[in-house]
Amino acid sequence: MISVFSVLLFASNKTAPSKQELSDRNPKKLNMADKDWKEKLTPEQYRILRKAGTERAFGEVYNEFKKQGAGKYLCAGCDTELFSSNEKFDSRCGWPSFFDPSKAQNVKTSVDYLLGYPRTEVLCAVCDGHLGHVFTGEGFNTPTDKRYCINGTVLKFVPGDSNDSKPNSKNKDSLTK
Ligand SMILES: [Zn+2]
Repeated sequence: MISVFSVLLFASNKTAPSKQELSDRNPKKLNMADKDWKEKLTPEQYRILRKAGTERAFGEVYNEFKKQGAGKYLCAGCDTELFSSNEKFDSRCGWPSFFDPSKAQNVKTSVDYLLGYPRTEVLCAVCDGHLGHVFTGEGFNTPTDKRYCINGTVLKFVPGDSNDSKPNSKNKDSLTK
């Protein structure tokens, strides 16, 4: 009986998530004073992330976004990965659109009534920064039929392989050199 148990334990250990994966699953909260946010962010980023603002539609940021290739989108407030080019789609709404987060645990939602009717606000789960809103059931031909309508101003684009989340990819590179 003991041996069966230890075999099971061994098997489950083999598939147990690494420390990195565990910390990904439970994002650590970042709490910063308002004055520190003002120092860290541009005025426009501060207005959006910390004051639930919205950038101008079809602006420069959106045009840049449309041109960007493969890569990840990090929170401009805390560098947490939120979206990637894999979930990006062209909704023609004037703001960067994704049908899903790339790291679901890093993106949270809450309902707001700022315009007098309920909308689902999208926030960074780590720094509580306002990112935009998510709309469901608009009929987009995407796997989720959701549109994460995100302010590009508060996303930091990191070009590269958007699937690059393997912990050993760096080591592999140094071995082949
Ligand atoms: Zn953040």
